[in-house]
Amino acid sequence: MDHFPVFMAVAGRRIVLSGGGEAALAKLRLILKTRAHVTVFAEKAHPDLHRLAAEGKLKLVSRAMEPGDAMCAVLFYAANEDADEDARVAELAHRDGARVNIVDNLADSQFITPAIVDRDPVVVAIGTEGAAPVLARRIKADLEERLPASLGLLARIGKGFRAAADVLPMGRKRRDFWSAFYFDRGPKALETGGEEAIRPTLDRLLDDTLAAKHRAGHVDLVGAGPGDPDLLTLKARKALDTADVVIFDRLVTPEILELARREALMIDAGKEGFGSSMPQDEIDALIVEHARSGAQVVRLKSGDPTVFGRLDEEIEACEAAGVSWRIIPGITAASAAVAGMGQSLTKRGRNSSVRYLTGHDTRGFADHDWRALARPGEVAAIYMGKRAARFIQGRLLMHGADPATPVTVIENASRADQRTLATTLSQLEPTLTEAGLTGPALTFIGLAPRAAQAAAHDITAQEFA
Ligand code: SAH
Repeated sequence: MDHFPVFMAVAGRRIVLSGGGEAALAKLRLILKTRAHVTVFAEKAHPDLHRLAAEGKLKLVSRAMEPGDAMCAVLFYAANEDADEDARVAELAHRDGARVNIVDNLADSQFITPAIVDRDPVVVAIGTEGAAPVLARRIKADLEERLPASLGLLARIGKGFRAAADVLPMGRKRRDFWSAFYFDRGPKALETGGEEAIRPTLDRLLDDTLAAKHRAGHVDLVGAGPGDPDLLTLKARKALDTADVVIFDRLVTPEILELARREALMIDAGKEGFGSSMPQDEIDALIVEHARSGAQVVRLKSGDPTVFGRLDEEIEACEAAGVSWRIIPGITAASAAVAGMGQSLTKRGRNSSVRYLTGHDTRGFADHDWRALARPGEVAAIYMGKRAARFIQGRLLMHGADPATPVTVIENASRADQRTLATTLSQLEPTLTEAGLTGPALTFIGLAPRAAQAAAHDITAQEFA
């Protein structure tokens, strides 16, 4: 971040602008939303500027800037659409002690003006540090659509009620009060009874909240999916939005953790597959402890929590402690990986079943029905199978599997650094070890990437040998 976003107090203070054309008017459209005293210097001024001056919205001085003109100004805009004149007036304003912005000149500006979504007093500022104005406009358009026009009104009335709401204890209860107001009772009151209905609604809501019993904690066991935040379910997003505590595994990506409520306590349980850095019983105890204190706990697990996730132990801990829980499913790694291969998990005439296996279990390399798996056409997705690859390869070959059976390993499925190794059973090792994968990887027995897909994901020709 080269620019730090702040909201500057400008009410009753000076903002000075030099320029009388379109560029000046464009900036003024934003500046005039504030309660600053605005002065414009322009030798030749657009008729709209004269009109704004006549309406008392700004002071128009019909001459070029001179030393001292930007004295006591907090902000100064050079908007002359003339680089030499902009440089001259910027220097003058700088000497007068104002922060200087030169329109369309990022390098020489001391601050930049963001794109704004205005629901005063709720204001969203969007900046891309000059990198992608198109992106900023698009985000602005999205937000304009999403934020109801009434938001500003609710926030203004809500602001006047803050002192009254301070009787509520800080934390969860107070937050629940405000979120019920902004997202439920407030908009409803406005719709049915208009502006006058809002204040009585706040009074009633406060009484209701004061009368309500201590809210019980709760545990959501949430699937974070394979890594791409776009593959989270809406339910998972909502749970993250309201979480007080998020206890996450190592495979959950930083982009997904970013989506948790900003005030949430983030706890790294550091688990990956069966190799765990925090013992399971400690994780169970942690979940229960936070839920019992009244927190909304999100237990965030990679993929789907019901697949190789030690979910049952956590559920049992919740039940033993009398804590309510629910499962929010996620996209499991096998689904993401097969999508990355452009393949189906099942296919008429090829395989009518698919197995999810783990390479490891509590006793070490996991044993399976190798004879059944060795049959032609079988498809199996192997989780945590990197270290067990040679073992699996040996068992399958020993039970008569065709050495030419296609095998595909997908590393970092759904993420920007997704990698595909297409090989055969006889070549699985040493291919896998030689590839030196570092991310989570899923191995498919009996599936090859669809040819075109394979080419697109090719890293080196050798990886597809
Ligand atoms: N509950 C998870 C699996 C947890 S076990 C799920 O449903 O996906 C951890 C294993 O999942 C890893 O060792 C790896 O085999 C697999 N895995 C998880 N995320 C993956 C990803 N993005 N790409 C490939 N494999 C992944």
